[in-house]
Amino acid sequence: MSALFLTNNLTRRKEKFAPADPERVTMYVCGPTVYNYAHIGNARPPVVFDVLYRLLRRTYGADHVIYARNYTDIDDRIIAKAQEEGVAIEEITARYARIYEEDTAALGVIKPGIAPRATEHVGDMIAMIETLIASGAAYRTQSGVYFSVDADADYGGLSNWKRDDAVSGTRIAGEEDKRTAYDFALWKAAKPGEPAWEAPFGRGRPGWHIECSAMIEEKLGSPIDIHGGGVDLLFPHHENEIAQTRCAHGRPLARFWLHNGFLTLEDEKMSKSLGNVVLIHELLKEWPGEVLRLALLSAHYREPLNWTGALLEQTKTGLNRLYGALQRVKDAPDTEEEAPAAFLDALMDDLNTPKAIAELFALATAANTAKPNDQPRVKAQFRAAAALMGILQHDPDAWFRAGAGDQAEKIDGLVAERVAARAAKNWPESDRIRDALTAMGVEVMDGPNGSTWRMT
Ligand SMILES: [Zn+2]
Repeated sequence: MSALFLTNNLTRRKEKFAPADPERVTMYVCGPTVYNYAHIGNARPPVVFDVLYRLLRRTYGADHVIYARNYTDIDDRIIAKAQEEGVAIEEITARYARIYEEDTAALGVIKPGIAPRATEHVGDMIAMIETLIASGAAYRTQSGVYFSVDADADYGGLSNWKRDDAVSGTRIAGEEDKRTAYDFALWKAAKPGEPAWEAPFGRGRPGWHIECSAMIEEKLGSPIDIHGGGVDLLFPHHENEIAQTRCAHGRPLARFWLHNGFLTLEDEKMSKSLGNVVLIHELLKEWPGEVLRLALLSAHYREPLNWTGALLEQTKTGLNRLYGALQRVKDAPDTEEEAPAAFLDALMDDLNTPKAIAELFALATAANTAKPNDQPRVKAQFRAAAALMGILQHDPDAWFRAGAGDQAEKIDGLVAERVAARAAKNWPESDRIRDALTAMGVEVMDGPNGSTWRMT
């Protein structure tokens, strides 16, 4: 099998990935701010990095990959939501963190081993801010503590940010009393009615960027092997994370920086203000989680993904085809097999999921045409490949029953009647029932262990 190559946005090149320590591979992905239901665009990073997590676990061993994804549980929007509902902030954050976990679990996302919450690490953030103040990389004002971008000569390496462009292009907004427009808040001074923590530099709460730097340091230790997130976080969030860690600890934050592309909705940018937002939990009422997951993986992770009704219909049809092929070989004896080399090569080549999906369909064709003595191998390869993608995790019969909805019992009844007709050698009746099933979109498959059916 080929080596793993990943596009590293720090160098803007596809590079061969090797962890600093193969016994302890570390990955961090910026998680959600928990104040509302997550939309389908929010689902792309957890699903994309879940495939990478599965691939890393397969390559280095499940016990040797440490994956952390945080919850931002202190933020202006959380405070506003709690005030709006007249409930405690903790009630809002606990509710939406739970919903996020349910939504991502329905999308087949393995729960990261570490899921730190920002409010549990305020002490670590305070310590890091103190270090930054002591080194001259941060300064206090009336409104809080700011990171001094001018104090960091290397600022801008990830995003190609240029100080000269920023100087002419930005102005200091609102109440912020920072030195330059591009300095950013590490700590926000306490305001009435808002949660606040005691700190040597005054009561207040942390800014967003410092959370990730402090939690990565505490939970994983810098530099980590892989830092991931949506491309919308590349600037300023990830640039700021890098600057904070470099100036506080003198180390790079991460060796590889990976970003997934935008998701558009019917060719439009998803935007709450435009009202075109689809929530994961709404989609899950209409579509199986695996359809949403496979649709999210249908484009290469770095490319934009256009989310449409047609994409979902097409993905559902495709999954039915894959499950149909799995159903055909499901009774073959179990055996141990790796996923085929062509499938693995696709994923190892910068997570080329469209190519990997094409290889899954090739495996489906192989399953549909395999002779009995070859079925165990094809089935095991098919299952191993599907497991890396996090799909085909249901029993095929159960999948088709669920797809048939309230028709499932009626179909079962007709299939049983047909089995009885065949046993009685009543061929006209058997054919009549088969035609009725065909008209309902049901295909019956007669095998040595009886008859099964699937939706076509
Ligand atoms: Zn982050």
